[in-house]
Amino acid sequence: MAEILVLGAGLTGLATATLLARDGHDVTVVERDQAPAPVPEQAWDGWQRQGVNQFRLPHFMLPRWWAVVRDELPGVTEALLAAGALRCNLLELLPETRRGAVRPDDERFDTVTARRPVLEAVLSAAAESAGVTVRRGVAVTGLTTDGRGGVPHVTGVLTAAGRPIRADLVVDCGGRRSALPAWLVAAGAQPPVEEREPCGFVYYGRHFRGELPALRTNLLQAHDSMGVLTLPGDNGTWSVVLVTHARDKAMRALRDPACWDRALALYPYAAEWADGEPITGVDVMAGIEDRYRRLAVDGAPVATGVVMVGDAWACTNPSVGRGAAIGLLHARLLRDTLREVDPAEHDKLARRFDEVTARVMEPMYRATIWLDRHRLAELEADLAGLPYRPDDPRWGASKALFAASLHDPDLTRAYSALSSFIAGPDEVFATPGVRERVVTLGGGAPQYPLPGPTRVELLSTMDPGAAADSRG
Ligand SMILES: Cc1cc2nc3c(=O)[nH]c(=O)nc-3n(C[C@H](O)[C@H](O)[C@H](O)COP(=O)(O)OP(=O)(O)OC[C@H]3O[C@@H](n4cnc5c(N)ncnc54)[C@H](O)[C@@H]3O)c2cc1C
Repeated sequence: MAEILVLGAGLTGLATATLLARDGHDVTVVERDQAPAPVPEQAWDGWQRQGVNQFRLPHFMLPRWWAVVRDELPGVTEALLAAGALRCNLLELLPETRRGAVRPDDERFDTVTARRPVLEAVLSAAAESAGVTVRRGVAVTGLTTDGRGGVPHVTGVLTAAGRPIRADLVVDCGGRRSALPAWLVAAGAQPPVEEREPCGFVYYGRHFRGELPALRTNLLQAHDSMGVLTLPGDNGTWSVVLVTHARDKAMRALRDPACWDRALALYPYAAEWADGEPITGVDVMAGIEDRYRRLAVDGAPVATGVVMVGDAWACTNPSVGRGAAIGLLHARLLRDTLREVDPAEHDKLARRFDEVTARVMEPMYRATIWLDRHRLAELEADLAGLPYRPDDPRWGASKALFAASLHDPDLTRAYSALSSFIAGPDEVFATPGVRERVVTLGGGAPQYPLPGPTRVELLSTMDPGAAADSRG
């Protein structure tokens, strides 16, 4: 078994470390944020983390995430529930008029979710119980290599304190802003493949406490110029996020809680989610990038002894809530790869993990980017006051599926499977009868079938003077 150093104690780093430790590896996690993980009950009020910008922003764990937790991380569900996490079924939360009676296989929509600090506190305790050493307050600043020339072989990391840490394998779970590519180049490696561009969305999120409101439709609602997320949480909390296009200047007024409240009140399927005690102001996150990296160029590793997992490997617009699930699936893939390939087989491990990541994980990233690009372009068209009619039949089909899902319990399940990240569009549309019913029930639907304001109505409510100049 190997000595493995995991860089970063975020959601993916902690899950990766736990999975590897449970397989018998000797695992250490290093995390630059100093603050120790509190007990989960104190995580929301007592834990600040500068290393993760979205630490206090709304998160929801999708059924796909929880299915892997349930199967691969024994004890974590119980610990989450003991910390007050919410166990729910995304389909059962919908009005019965929409979903019909509960069916036996609706269990696939089960999940367990909590606010981000609570999740991390539980995962941190689980990692330590699995034998992982978590060292907080250790910032990695570079890599050590064997110095033999050719493709660099990473032998450990350098730290800000000047003390190197040796490892058989370094697993970079350093998140969206991981500096690994620069460290590799400094160590003499060819630059890794990197694609990056602004994701283009801005998030205006707020947490509440009280009696959880009823869910009237799916968690993510698309409207003219706006996305609305209503996310149940732990211990009688929930969050609401308004998502806009970064170039939509008029929407920047949503930073003001009073304006945010007025805007939310216009969405009949979300308005009552403000009927609680706000436990935060409006937390804003902008400037997020979509980013994809690959540590092999034309199939040849740029370095060995190091891999990237989770957001460090690829990250996208978070409004579809897939980041934690993708990170966990990727972590499991690394564990499975290490069951087949000894880390001492440096080149073989680097090639195999690159190959399985490209084959298994990359389609998830590409599918999410596809969704993001269309939604962003749709918001851009809203801003310009134009209809959005791209030359991509799959986008039309996915919009029609949502519209049709409002009128047909089978299609409600089909759409919920997509949004729960437990099935992809190809699988959903291959189900007999789905395509035909989507065309019949959703083909002629309006662009935004849920009740809500037009852009002009929204702006005139948010700021009566702004509607006249709304195309910012
Ligand atoms: C606004 C927003 C909302 C989101 N909502 C959801 C959601 O609802 N559901 C969902 O599944 N996902 C959501 N995500 C995505 C989710 O937050 C990420 O996918 C997840 O945090 C990735 O975990 P990670 O461990 O890969 O990276 P991170 O959580 O970013 O953790 C990286 C860690 O590495 C540490 N680190 C970095 N560099 C160093 C270094 N040099 N030395 C030592 N430590 C270092 C950092 O301090 C940090 O702790 C959201 C993201 C955003 C931006």
